[in-house]
Amino acid sequence: MKKIAVLTSGGDAPGMNAAFRAVVRKSIYEGIEVYGVYQGYQGLVNDNIKKLELGDVGDIIQRGGTKLYSARCPEFIEPHVRQKGIDNLKNRGIDSLIVIGGDGSYRGAQRLDEEGISTIGVPGTIDNDINGTDYTIGFDTALNTIVDAVDRIRDTATSHERTFIIEVMGRDAGDLALWAGVAGGAETILIPEAPSDIKVVAERIETGMERGKKHSIIIVAEGVMSASECGEELRKYINVDTRESVLGHMQRGGKPTGTDRVLASRLGAFAVELLLEGVSGHAVGIENNSLSKTSFDQVFEEHHKIDERLYRLSQELSI
Ligand code: ADP
Repeated sequence: MKKIAVLTSGGDAPGMNAAFRAVVRKSIYEGIEVYGVYQGYQGLVNDNIKKLELGDVGDIIQRGGTKLYSARCPEFIEPHVRQKGIDNLKNRGIDSLIVIGGDGSYRGAQRLDEEGISTIGVPGTIDNDINGTDYTIGFDTALNTIVDAVDRIRDTATSHERTFIIEVMGRDAGDLALWAGVAGGAETILIPEAPSDIKVVAERIETGMERGKKHSIIIVAEGVMSASECGEELRKYINVDTRESVLGHMQRGGKPTGTDRVLASRLGAFAVELLLEGVSGHAVGIENNSLSKTSFDQVFEEHHKIDERLYRLSQELSI
């Protein structure tokens, strides 16, 4: 009988539990034994592996975080460290692994696939920075969390006539900032994919103030600079009263949205289907609302790109 293991790795994301649940339930539905690896690659190396039953994933579809826990395991780049993990799987007769995580986790998964464990990646990260899928699991939830925060900050920005700078996550990707900026009606969106001249941003704020605009919301992706650096930069050019908000880890937590739960369920089950068809060394995704698979090589081929039309629109709507 085929045996599959599943782990979550790297930064956690809302919806990872829903993906984990889908992997376990789909495997059992197909008559496959399924094992949970706790604490990501660290747990794989430490043999923190447990056989799972249907009940082990009960009551988790609605929960944020990951019941499998996540960990960072820098040593996993070493072949002899990975070999320990491979041995731990093989000792149990497990030949397949589903890795739910971001692109760092995919690199570990690709190595394992080359070294004899059939591996499939499931995109779990709030950053939406993985090629081969239009959306990653957790992006929609984090986006809604940020938009809620922006709405609240806008209330106080309006009352106090201030410029607010809101720093959002995304590592070196700007999707969260761009989408949250459009959805939250931000005046300025600063993302790594479209470098902005702060002098020009300052001039726009000044022009707005001269026109009678009393407040302004700037969303800055952490990959560009911090909110406080952004405030300092602006004050080099204009005399403006700014307040900075760093949303931080609240963006990672919370109940996954319905959209993220459905996405996670589809992708988790699809990963199992692919392994059953004999496919490995690929990541699953959703492209134009259809399930898709992309080889790890292709996923890494180029840097994730921003939706340029959406970026242009954000500029057109914030004049
Ligand atoms: P994410 O998956 O969210 O991008 P990380 O970049 O922290 O998170 O990667 C998660 C884990 O994946 C790392 O702690 C490490 O164990 C493993 N990993 C990352 N890069 C490599 C690599 N080049 N080779 C092997 N394993 C890697």
